[in-house]
Amino acid sequence: MSDQAPSELESQRRRAARNQSLFREVNERIEDLAAASSFSTFICECMDESCDKGVPLTIEEYEHIRARSNSFLVIPGHEVPEVEEVIEASDRFLVVAKSGSGERVAAALDPRKRTVQADADG
Ligand SMILES: [Zn+2]
Repeated sequence: MSDQAPSELESQRRRAARNQSLFREVNERIEDLAAASSFSTFICECMDESCDKGVPLTIEEYEHIRARSNSFLVIPGHEVPEVEEVIEASDRFLVVAKSGSGERVAAALDPRKRTVQADADG
């Protein structure tokens, strides 16, 4: 089922990366409040804006994911192949990397490397 024009696909990818970057911002706050040695409940960073599923992670696991600007934490089944690629999988969570122009958006919106304001559209 792929009758989308390339530009529409890229637009979808950028939109997904923006939505998921907002969830990532929330998880940064959660981590700030978390104790280092135990599980904390982070939120699924999938592209569904209404998703509020929690994911139990240790700070170490979260830091591992966050080490890359283009990585997002999602619950298994919440990945969307059109906009992202699964790069790691465990029984509790997947790590996805944004595809196409979504990667640029994800990097620009990385809260740990924010130097320029991402242009949101394009
Ligand atoms: Zn989700």
